[in-house]
Amino acid sequence: MTRRRRVYEGKAKVLFEGPEPGTLVQYFKDDATAFNGVKKSTVTGKGVLNNRISEHLMSRLGEIGIPNHFIRRLNMREQLIKEVEIVPVEVIVRNVAAGSICSRLGLTEGAPLPRTLVEFCYKSDELNDPLIAEEHITTFGWATAEEIEDIMTLTLRVNDFLCGLFTAIGIRLIDFKLEFGRHYEDDEMQIILADEISPDNCRLWDMATNEKLDKDRFRRDLGGVEDAYQEVARRLGILPESGPNDLKGSNSLQ
Ligand code: UDP
Repeated sequence: MTRRRRVYEGKAKVLFEGPEPGTLVQYFKDDATAFNGVKKSTVTGKGVLNNRISEHLMSRLGEIGIPNHFIRRLNMREQLIKEVEIVPVEVIVRNVAAGSICSRLGLTEGAPLPRTLVEFCYKSDELNDPLIAEEHITTFGWATAEEIEDIMTLTLRVNDFLCGLFTAIGIRLIDFKLEFGRHYEDDEMQIILADEISPDNCRLWDMATNEKLDKDRFRRDLGGVEDAYQEVARRLGILPESGPNDLKGSNSLQ
């Protein structure tokens, strides 16, 4: 068996060298972490579900002209993606108050925000992804003003589209995190959407009951993490045809 070269290992995913130059294989693990890695566990089937969910959302976004790194799904846990130079900024989009903004600003969880709020955090585990302003991004050269403009335009389009997509299946998109990268092709550089979009980095609440269908079930020990991710996949119409038993997939890395 040939061993592939590991390019990067994160908390929930591994990136391997891809079959052609300029491509990578993104492998989704079952590992779940929260509070910057302080809380750790595995959620059986999570990697399979996130691979599917992210494939679905990135494909739909691609269809409406949002450039992104997704090329195609390879198997239960892997997808082929375009190699990008990641912009070290996490883009947080908030429609409703939840999570860290509530403690930071004394807001009540579930309160709709007067308008969509976009925040930036510096991508650094050592520093705990601190909240930053646009000024920090340009001052420290993490991205140019033009790149930030592209990121903002894409982010707001992603939010509009995803709010509609989730509303149609009875889910409120409370907040989510995006990452962007620079994609180089024929001497041209384009900012494209990267990483993943899944219940690991979105807050998704059932519209009728406010039940949490996302990683907060893990963060807050609410139980039923896998069921919640499965419910999101079911409503999106993308559960594996052979049923939930097919979700385990091999979790072994090669
Ligand atoms: N988020 C993420 N990765 C991070 C930080 C946040 O995916 O490193 C997502 C998180 O799942 C939520 C949104 O971004 O959907 C806003 O998270 P928040 O700032 O409230 O942080 P948290 O409460 O998760 O610490």
